[in-house]
Amino acid sequence: MNIERRTGDEILHLSLMNGQARVLLCDTTLLTQRCSDLHNANALCTAALGRLMTGTLMMGVMLKGAGESVSVTLKGGGPIGTMVAVADCDSVRACCDNPRVELPLRADGKLDVGGAVGHAGRISVVKDLGMREPYIGQCELVSGEIAMDFANYFTVSEQQPSLVALGVLTGGEHVLRAGGLLIQPMPGCEEATIEQLELRSPMFADISRELAAAPKEELAEDWFRGLDPVLLDRTPVSYRCTCSRERMERALISMGRADLQEIIDDGKGAELSCHFCGSTYFFTTDELKALMARAEKKDGESHV
Ligand SMILES: [Zn+2]
Repeated sequence: MNIERRTGDEILHLSLMNGQARVLLCDTTLLTQRCSDLHNANALCTAALGRLMTGTLMMGVMLKGAGESVSVTLKGGGPIGTMVAVADCDSVRACCDNPRVELPLRADGKLDVGGAVGHAGRISVVKDLGMREPYIGQCELVSGEIAMDFANYFTVSEQQPSLVALGVLTGGEHVLRAGGLLIQPMPGCEEATIEQLELRSPMFADISRELAAAPKEELAEDWFRGLDPVLLDRTPVSYRCTCSRERMERALISMGRADLQEIIDDGKGAELSCHFCGSTYFFTTDELKALMARAEKKDGESHV
């Protein structure tokens, strides 16, 4: 495999053994730093958010059509609270309830992501595929360490056995390297290929450290030597929020008329801030009244 090296966040799409398995290898360093900065997250929560975003983004790039999106919610009962990431085919955004949760390092010296997320709960996946009903899948969390939870989700809920590695290497509150790897055998994959991949899995267990040590193109060549790796595509990825004034208007309307009326009666207007990027949107009382009128008109229409 002779491929050009590039830096910056991106996902490499590879095939192995003439299509017997597909591989996604991601560098998500910059977008993880961006998310960390936006939420003023500490190292532990940055690691959790980075892992979740990388896993979600890998599902995002596998979506087929423009305008499709996937959101992954982790509710593990741990002190970080609920975590949400939303991705489309080339961008992701994420948030969590408590981005500054502190926990002691684990015995092996690593950040205790599993302790922060917890594992008494669920991973839920909603794919908006542009159809009337979204696809919804969920399963129990197995460790809260996130990579294993994604792997279990793929295997149990989507019947797609998968090898998943996710990692964020931090230095203080700085993201030194973040990334992930997904390997999925395709229908007809030979047992010998699966055995080879399982044998090699310790090579990419500590994925962020590996990515920090060598360019991802070199790593792919090294890890998959003899398995005929072919680079199919590369997708630049970034942190991007899709919030807008129109979306916030819809959120206000969806609160219900009683709650909206209460804010109008308060007379102070409403300031909404986006959970994913912190942008704020202010609505005056007059603007809220106009929204209310629109909501009433819409209600009237739906009763006809
Ligand atoms: Zn936003």
